[in-house]
Amino acid sequence: MPESMRTPYIAANWKMHKTVAEAAEYVDALLPQIAATQSDVVLCPSFLALAEVVERSRGSAVRVAAQNMHEADEGAFTGEVSPRMLVAADVDAVILGHSERRQLFGETDEALARKVQAALTEGLEPILCVGESAEARDAGQTEAVLERQLQADLVAVEGGKLSGVVIAYEPIWAIGTGRTATPEQAQEAIAFIRDVLREHGAAAERVRILYGGSVKPANAAELMAQPDIDGALVGGASLDPAEFAEIVRAT
Ligand code: PEP
Repeated sequence: MPESMRTPYIAANWKMHKTVAEAAEYVDALLPQIAATQSDVVLCPSFLALAEVVERSRGSAVRVAAQNMHEADEGAFTGEVSPRMLVAADVDAVILGHSERRQLFGETDEALARKVQAALTEGLEPILCVGESAEARDAGQTEAVLERQLQADLVAVEGGKLSGVVIAYEPIWAIGTGRTATPEQAQEAIAFIRDVLREHGAAAERVRILYGGSVKPANAAELMAQPDIDGALVGGASLDPAEFAEIVRAT
Protein backbone atom coordinates (compact mmCIF):
# COMPACT_ATOMS: atom_id res chain seq x y z
CA MET A 1 0.00 0.00 0.00
CA PRO A 2 1.44 3.40 -0.90
CA GLU A 3 2.35 5.60 2.03
CA SER A 4 -0.27 8.15 0.92
CA MET A 5 -3.05 5.67 1.77
CA ARG A 6 -2.24 5.93 5.48
CA THR A 7 -3.95 8.99 6.97
CA PRO A 8 -1.47 11.01 9.07
CA TYR A 9 -2.09 10.65 12.81
CA ILE A 10 -0.99 13.29 15.31
CA ALA A 11 -1.57 12.66 19.01
CA ALA A 12 -1.09 14.98 21.99
CA ASN A 13 -0.05 13.17 25.16
CA TRP A 14 -0.74 15.64 27.94
CA LYS A 15 0.51 13.22 30.61
CA MET A 16 -0.37 14.51 34.13
CA HIS A 17 -1.07 18.07 32.98
CA LYS A 18 -4.24 20.21 32.75
CA THR A 19 -7.25 20.45 35.01
CA VAL A 20 -10.72 20.02 33.50
CA ALA A 21 -11.02 23.81 33.09
CA GLU A 22 -7.61 24.05 31.43
CA ALA A 23 -8.48 21.17 29.10
CA ALA A 24 -11.70 22.96 28.06
CA GLU A 25 -9.80 26.17 27.33
CA TYR A 26 -7.25 24.24 25.28
CA VAL A 27 -9.85 22.53 23.08
CA ASP A 28 -11.62 25.84 22.41
CA ALA A 29 -8.30 27.39 21.38
CA LEU A 30 -7.17 24.43 19.27
CA LEU A 31 -10.23 23.67 17.14
CA PRO A 32 -10.24 26.82 14.98
CA GLN A 33 -6.51 26.41 14.33
CA ILE A 34 -6.84 22.90 12.90
CA ALA A 35 -10.20 23.27 11.16
CA ALA A 36 -8.69 22.53 7.73
CA THR A 37 -6.68 19.45 8.71
CA GLN A 38 -7.05 16.17 6.82
CA SER A 39 -5.09 14.31 9.51
CA ASP A 40 -6.41 12.30 12.44
CA VAL A 41 -5.85 14.53 15.48
CA VAL A 42 -6.03 12.82 18.86
CA LEU A 43 -6.01 14.43 22.31
CA CYS A 44 -4.95 12.32 25.30
CA PRO A 45 -5.98 14.09 28.54
CA SER A 46 -6.03 12.69 32.07
CA PHE A 47 -8.96 10.38 32.95
CA LEU A 48 -10.62 13.26 34.76
CA ALA A 49 -10.69 15.55 31.70
CA LEU A 50 -11.74 12.90 29.15
CA ALA A 51 -15.48 13.66 29.32
CA GLU A 52 -14.93 17.41 28.94
CA VAL A 53 -12.63 16.96 25.93
CA VAL A 54 -15.09 14.50 24.33
CA GLU A 55 -17.97 16.99 24.74
CA ARG A 56 -16.02 20.06 23.57
CA SER A 57 -14.61 18.35 20.49
CA ARG A 58 -17.86 16.76 19.23
CA GLY A 59 -18.41 17.46 15.53
CA SER A 60 -14.72 18.30 14.95
CA ALA A 61 -11.83 16.25 13.54
CA VAL A 62 -10.49 15.68 17.03
CA ARG A 63 -10.64 12.20 18.54
CA VAL A 64 -9.94 11.40 22.19
CA ALA A 65 -7.68 8.83 23.82
CA ALA A 66 -6.98 7.76 27.39
CA GLN A 67 -3.38 7.39 28.56
CA ASN A 68 -3.80 3.93 30.08
CA MET A 69 -6.48 1.42 31.12
CA HIS A 70 -6.97 -1.90 32.92
CA GLU A 71 -7.73 -4.92 30.76
CA ALA A 72 -10.77 -6.17 32.72
CA ASP A 73 -14.31 -4.94 32.09
CA GLU A 74 -14.88 -4.38 35.81
CA GLY A 75 -13.81 -5.76 39.16
CA ALA A 76 -11.92 -5.19 42.40
CA PHE A 77 -9.06 -3.13 40.94
CA THR A 78 -8.89 0.02 43.04
CA GLY A 79 -7.78 3.08 41.12
CA GLU A 80 -8.18 1.53 37.67
CA VAL A 81 -10.38 2.39 34.68
CA SER A 82 -11.78 -0.25 32.31
CA PRO A 83 -12.11 -0.34 28.51
CA ARG A 84 -15.89 -0.57 28.88
CA MET A 85 -15.93 2.65 30.91
CA LEU A 86 -13.86 4.42 28.25
CA VAL A 87 -16.12 3.27 25.42
CA ALA A 88 -19.20 4.37 27.37
CA ALA A 89 -17.61 7.82 27.69
CA ASP A 90 -17.17 7.97 23.88
CA VAL A 91 -13.40 7.68 24.09
CA ASP A 92 -11.91 6.42 20.81
CA ALA A 93 -8.42 5.20 21.65
CA VAL A 94 -5.96 4.44 24.43
CA ILE A 95 -2.19 4.83 24.79
CA LEU A 96 -0.71 1.55 26.01
CA GLY A 97 2.85 0.82 27.13
CA HIS A 98 4.18 4.37 27.29
CA SER A 99 7.77 4.15 28.56
CA GLU A 100 6.81 6.15 31.68
CA ARG A 101 4.28 3.46 32.54
CA ARG A 102 6.77 0.71 31.80
CA GLN A 103 9.58 2.36 33.80
CA LEU A 104 7.77 4.12 36.66
CA PHE A 105 4.72 1.91 37.15
CA GLY A 106 6.07 -1.55 36.34
CA GLU A 107 3.91 -2.15 33.24
CA THR A 108 4.91 -5.53 31.80
CA ASP A 109 4.70 -6.94 28.28
CA GLU A 110 2.40 -9.68 29.64
CA ALA A 111 -0.06 -7.09 30.93
CA LEU A 112 0.24 -5.12 27.69
CA ALA A 113 -0.62 -8.16 25.58
CA ARG A 114 -3.86 -8.47 27.58
CA LYS A 115 -4.57 -4.73 27.36
CA VAL A 116 -4.04 -4.55 23.58
CA GLN A 117 -6.40 -7.47 23.11
CA ALA A 118 -9.01 -6.00 25.48
CA ALA A 119 -8.90 -2.61 23.73
CA LEU A 120 -9.49 -4.20 20.31
CA THR A 121 -12.30 -6.38 21.66
CA GLU A 122 -14.07 -3.33 23.12
CA GLY A 123 -13.56 -1.24 19.95
CA LEU A 124 -10.88 1.08 21.31
CA GLU A 125 -7.88 1.84 19.13
CA PRO A 126 -4.68 0.91 20.98
CA ILE A 127 -1.72 3.30 20.50
CA LEU A 128 1.04 0.89 21.50
CA CYS A 129 4.35 2.53 22.46
CA VAL A 130 7.66 0.74 21.95
CA GLY A 131 11.22 2.03 22.10
CA GLU A 132 14.74 1.36 23.26
CA SER A 133 16.79 2.94 26.05
CA ALA A 134 20.02 4.85 25.38
CA GLU A 135 21.99 1.89 26.73
CA ALA A 136 20.26 -0.53 24.36
CA ARG A 137 20.90 1.75 21.38
CA ASP A 138 24.57 2.17 22.32
CA ALA A 139 24.90 -1.60 22.64
CA GLY A 140 23.43 -2.11 19.14
CA GLN A 141 20.29 -3.69 20.62
CA THR A 142 17.65 -1.33 19.17
CA GLU A 143 16.14 -3.83 16.75
CA ALA A 144 16.24 -6.69 19.27
CA VAL A 145 14.35 -4.56 21.84
CA LEU A 146 11.74 -3.44 19.34
CA GLU A 147 11.18 -6.95 18.01
CA ARG A 148 10.84 -8.39 21.50
CA GLN A 149 8.34 -5.71 22.60
CA LEU A 150 6.24 -6.00 19.45
CA GLN A 151 6.11 -9.78 19.52
CA ALA A 152 5.22 -9.88 23.21
CA ASP A 153 2.66 -7.06 23.15
CA LEU A 154 0.89 -8.14 19.94
CA VAL A 155 0.95 -11.87 20.64
CA ALA A 156 -2.84 -12.08 21.06
CA VAL A 157 -3.70 -9.94 18.01
CA GLU A 158 -4.88 -11.88 14.96
CA GLY A 159 -3.20 -10.77 11.70
CA GLY A 160 -6.43 -9.35 10.30
CA LYS A 161 -6.96 -7.13 13.36
CA LEU A 162 -3.51 -5.53 13.11
CA SER A 163 -4.68 -2.54 11.08
CA GLY A 164 -6.74 -1.45 14.11
CA VAL A 165 -3.54 -0.87 16.09
CA VAL A 166 -1.43 2.30 15.98
CA ILE A 167 2.23 1.91 16.94
CA ALA A 168 4.31 4.74 18.41
CA TYR A 169 8.08 4.38 18.15
CA GLU A 170 9.36 6.34 21.14
CA PRO A 171 13.08 5.96 21.84
CA ILE A 172 13.34 6.53 25.59
CA TRP A 173 16.42 8.72 25.18
CA ALA A 174 14.40 11.17 23.09
CA ILE A 175 11.38 11.56 25.41
CA GLY A 176 11.25 14.88 27.22
CA THR A 177 14.99 15.34 26.71
CA GLY A 178 15.01 17.79 23.81
CA ARG A 179 17.14 15.20 21.99
CA THR A 180 15.11 14.20 18.91
CA ALA A 181 16.01 11.15 16.85
CA THR A 182 17.25 12.28 13.45
CA PRO A 183 14.72 11.70 10.66
CA GLU A 184 17.02 8.93 9.37
CA GLN A 185 17.22 7.20 12.78
CA ALA A 186 13.43 7.40 13.18
CA GLN A 187 12.79 6.16 9.62
CA GLU A 188 15.20 3.27 10.05
CA ALA A 189 13.58 2.08 13.30
CA ILE A 190 10.04 2.54 11.98
CA ALA A 191 10.81 0.68 8.73
CA PHE A 192 12.14 -2.13 10.91
CA ILE A 193 8.93 -2.08 12.98
CA ARG A 194 6.90 -2.39 9.75
CA ASP A 195 9.05 -5.39 8.75
CA VAL A 196 8.27 -7.06 12.09
CA LEU A 197 4.56 -6.32 11.62
CA ARG A 198 4.65 -7.85 8.12
CA GLU A 199 5.60 -11.16 9.70
CA HIS A 200 2.44 -10.77 11.78
CA GLY A 201 0.07 -10.19 8.85
CA ALA A 202 -0.59 -8.45 5.55
CA ALA A 203 -2.43 -5.61 7.32
CA ALA A 204 1.01 -4.26 8.31
CA GLU A 205 0.91 -1.93 5.30
CA ARG A 206 -2.17 -0.23 6.73
CA VAL A 207 -0.80 0.25 10.28
CA ARG A 208 -0.01 3.84 11.19
CA ILE A 209 3.40 4.04 12.86
CA LEU A 210 4.18 7.28 14.70
CA TYR A 211 7.40 8.78 15.93
CA GLY A 212 7.53 10.27 19.44
CA GLY A 213 10.37 12.01 21.25
CA SER A 214 10.86 15.79 21.45
CA VAL A 215 8.73 16.52 18.36
CA LYS A 216 8.37 20.30 17.93
CA PRO A 217 7.05 22.61 15.20
CA ALA A 218 10.66 23.05 13.99
CA ASN A 219 11.32 19.35 13.34
CA ALA A 220 7.85 17.92 12.62
CA ALA A 221 7.78 18.38 8.84
CA GLU A 222 11.18 16.78 8.33
CA LEU A 223 10.21 13.75 10.42
CA MET A 224 6.81 13.38 8.70
CA ALA A 225 8.45 13.50 5.26
CA GLN A 226 10.04 10.08 5.89
CA PRO A 227 8.23 7.32 3.95
CA ASP A 228 7.38 5.06 6.91
CA ILE A 229 6.61 7.78 9.50
CA ASP A 230 2.84 8.27 9.54
CA GLY A 231 2.51 10.78 12.35
CA ALA A 232 3.68 11.83 15.78
CA LEU A 233 2.99 11.27 19.46
CA VAL A 234 3.80 14.63 21.03
CA GLY A 235 4.41 15.25 24.73
CA GLY A 236 5.81 18.60 25.89
CA ALA A 237 5.07 20.53 22.70
CA SER A 238 1.43 19.42 22.76
CA LEU A 239 0.65 21.34 25.95
CA ASP A 240 0.33 24.63 24.11
CA PRO A 241 -2.53 24.62 21.55
CA ALA A 242 -0.73 26.99 19.15
CA GLU A 243 2.42 24.87 19.16
CA PHE A 244 0.47 21.63 18.74
CA ALA A 245 -1.61 23.17 15.92
CA GLU A 246 1.63 24.08 14.13
CA ILE A 247 2.75 20.46 14.35
CA VAL A 248 -0.62 19.29 12.99
CA ARG A 249 -0.34 21.74 10.09
CA ALA A 250 3.17 20.44 9.32
CA THR A 251 1.75 17.02 8.39
C1 PEP B 1 5.88 11.29 25.03
O1 PEP B 1 5.98 11.23 26.24
O2 PEP B 1 5.09 10.53 24.46
C2 PEP B 1 6.72 12.24 24.30
C3 PEP B 1 6.98 11.97 23.06
O3 PEP B 1 7.19 13.33 25.02
P1 PEP B 1 8.04 14.57 24.44
O4 PEP B 1 7.40 15.00 23.14
O5 PEP B 1 7.95 15.60 25.51
O6 PEP B 1 9.44 14.07 24.22
